[in-house]
Amino acid sequence: MAATVIDGKAVAASVRERVRGEVDELSAQLGRPPGLATVLVGDDKASAIYVRRKREACEEVGIRSFHHEPDGSISQDELLELVATLNDSDEIDGILVQLPLPDQIDAGAIVDAIDPDKDVDGLTAISAGRLARGEPGLVSCTPRGIMELLASAGVDPAGKEAVIVGRSNLVGRPLFSLLLGANATVTVCHSRTNDLGEVCRRAEILVAAAGRPRLIAGDMVRPGATVIDVGTNRTDDGLVGDVDFDAAVEVAAAITPVPGGVGPMTIAMLLANTVSAARIRHQAAAASA
Ligand code: NAP
Repeated sequence: MAATVIDGKAVAASVRERVRGEVDELSAQLGRPPGLATVLVGDDKASAIYVRRKREACEEVGIRSFHHEPDGSISQDELLELVATLNDSDEIDGILVQLPLPDQIDAGAIVDAIDPDKDVDGLTAISAGRLARGEPGLVSCTPRGIMELLASAGVDPAGKEAVIVGRSNLVGRPLFSLLLGANATVTVCHSRTNDLGEVCRRAEILVAAAGRPRLIAGDMVRPGATVIDVGTNRTDDGLVGDVDFDAAVEVAAAITPVPGGVGPMTIAMLLANTVSAARIRHQAAAASA
């Protein structure tokens, strides 16, 4: 029997709806809407589209966006200064510096300059460390979205064998910590993994985040598994995931499509993170008053 297809657009829409309610409530408490600063450096077309979508999504739920678009020739020190200004602004709860950055900029240093309590992308070393230690903090958007998708499909990771293909700081590593925190037994695969198929076939929850079109064949999927496909690969056949969907849908119990699976969750979780950041800052300010 074919798997249930997990509808990421519908789950993302319900997250946005939930966030809209939280924004209303928080705005009343703060006396201002939650604020997200976006920083777009240079003229990378794809980055410009991503940032525009993020700002539009903010507006839809009532988050105020503060946009900065420095010239692509900006120096490291000037960009650090901008981040410091955003860190200090009371109206800004979240800061997003769109990657990639131009070659003259050390992206790691810029990311780590963001106040961890405003780190809505969850990419600073402090956010990553908090997550790895199981401490509260902001969690990067795509992994957080994947956990939300699992919950929406009624999949509790506790006690399950989970396999993640990919160990990036953006997806694989934070997802490892989230699934472990949810009591799954987690294996992380990468380009040096021996016999990827054999490891994947153990997975009750299989997450593919390698950026390799159709890397995961149908016979690598355990019957009855939940398959989350993070891959977004532009090919001659259009946008495809890391999973051979047509084959895997016949074996899995539930599967995300590409597009329309994980993708829509990422922006929805950015909104959710901005609200989380605003709430944390509000509670900290109230506690110190
Ligand atoms: P990345 O930084 O390039 O990392 C890819 C990971 O996959 C690496 O750990 C790599 O192993 C591993 N890998 C590559 N080829 C492999 C193979 N043949 N077998 C096993 N592992 C292999 O990518 P990323 O940023 O995590 O993104 C992964 C994919 O998700 C991309 O398609 C990206 O576009 C997509 N993505 C989508 C969203 C969304 O919102 N939908 C968000 C983020 C990412 P090594 O470490 O050994 O090199």
